[in-house]
Amino acid sequence: MTDTDLDAFRTRCREFLEEHASPLQLDGPDPRDDQTVAHSQAFLKKLADAGLGGLTYATEYGGAGLTKAEERVWREEYAHFPDCSGAFTISHGMCLPMMNEFGSEELKKQYMPRMISGEDMWCQMFSEPGAGSDVASLQTKAVKDGDQWIINGQKVWTTLAHHSNYGLIVARTDPELVKHAGLSMFMIDMRDPAVEIRPIHQIDGGMHFNEIFFTDLAIPADWLLGEYNAGWKQATAMLMYERVAIGTGSKSGITTPMFNRIKREAARLGTIQDPIVRDKMMQIYSQEVTKSLVSMRTRAEMKAGKAPGPGGSLGKLHGSNIGWMTREFLHEMVGPQIMAYEQGDESAEEWSKYPLRAFMGSIAGGTDEIQRNIIGDRVLGLPRDVAVDKGVPFNQLKVGTVSE
Ligand SMILES: Cc1cc2nc3c(=O)[nH]c(=O)nc-3n(C[C@H](O)[C@H](O)[C@H](O)COP(=O)(O)OP(=O)(O)OC[C@H]3O[C@@H](n4cnc5c(N)ncnc54)[C@H](O)[C@@H]3O)c2cc1C
Repeated sequence: MTDTDLDAFRTRCREFLEEHASPLQLDGPDPRDDQTVAHSQAFLKKLADAGLGGLTYATEYGGAGLTKAEERVWREEYAHFPDCSGAFTISHGMCLPMMNEFGSEELKKQYMPRMISGEDMWCQMFSEPGAGSDVASLQTKAVKDGDQWIINGQKVWTTLAHHSNYGLIVARTDPELVKHAGLSMFMIDMRDPAVEIRPIHQIDGGMHFNEIFFTDLAIPADWLLGEYNAGWKQATAMLMYERVAIGTGSKSGITTPMFNRIKREAARLGTIQDPIVRDKMMQIYSQEVTKSLVSMRTRAEMKAGKAPGPGGSLGKLHGSNIGWMTREFLHEMVGPQIMAYEQGDESAEEWSKYPLRAFMGSIAGGTDEIQRNIIGDRVLGLPRDVAVDKGVPFNQLKVGTVSE
């Protein structure tokens, strides 16, 4: 690929984005998620129709079959436009690479094209009431019955399950093995009547995620992804993709979205000359630039053929820190209106949700404490936590919701 080819590709990306990357115009505040999903879906369909969907995935699976260099060009151009595919962070950033890496040839050909074009959304089902940070303690079971698997159990916090057609689930397939060894990954059809999806009502008024119950859900034997009882390896791979997806986003280069937003707000409120406001804004700016540089390094490692490693936790943790800094600063800058805003003041109403939402980034995809543990163990090489359950079969442990 020559520089001239890449320049031509850059022009093609920019022209597409100029024509199609318009910001979401909310038609009333709720249901925000429905509108965001529809907006992302329309954009991804146009992207796929233009031959720019799933850039580096093979054409036989519905991708564009392009190179990592072209993907980087796309990300660089996309960084100048509003995010139009955010609702697909899990579907595209996590489920798609997993299907590509671990799906059988038949599954890839059948399911990846609609996943890439956004016609099908996929969700991730790992967490359970007693298994979040320690997800290997999960209790949802999958039992082989002839040419089917029968799944029973419960998942929780499943983002956008109510919009998803399919999902990836990790279930326990052998409780006699140690907890990390007896797990397997499957795809499931979210519209099966044996899957009950119940929305969780959030503090900010949204209903972004769900709890899910499986009662004798029967799925075909070949919906097992990868190898039997190798689910932990795959779950770890998916969590790495998750941290990269959350920590680096879909854009490349230096981006400072929160700084830009706060700068506009400070100008609107007339506080932009205030030295304390300027100092705080610079701190957020510096953090966002650092996060971008960390993300660029992670992406460069992936471009060089490395699997996303624990370094993805750095980007994720950075994003969470920015969220907390911004939360505190907004309270000072916007003042009491952040809670008690005038009806019709859309800007204040939007900001009022931010302090409530800031918590999400430090929990979703693994909490800050867990990211720090990973960075400590696997990036800095510090001694690992003591594991009291090492070598003990799962069915002898008191984990998850097991109390006696
Ligand atoms: C917005 C959002 C979206 C989500 N989407 C999904 C989704 O789509 N699919 C999905 O499967 N899950 C999803 N989750 C769930 C998320 O992965 C879990 O909430 C998270 O892993 C934490 O698990 P937990 O809630 O059970 O908390 P716990 O694991 O019970 O943790 C409680 C507290 O203990 C701390 N802690 C636990 N273990 C350790 C340790 N070893 N060292 C130090 N501190 C520790 C934690 O940091 C935390 O502060 C989502 C969560 C959020 C907030």
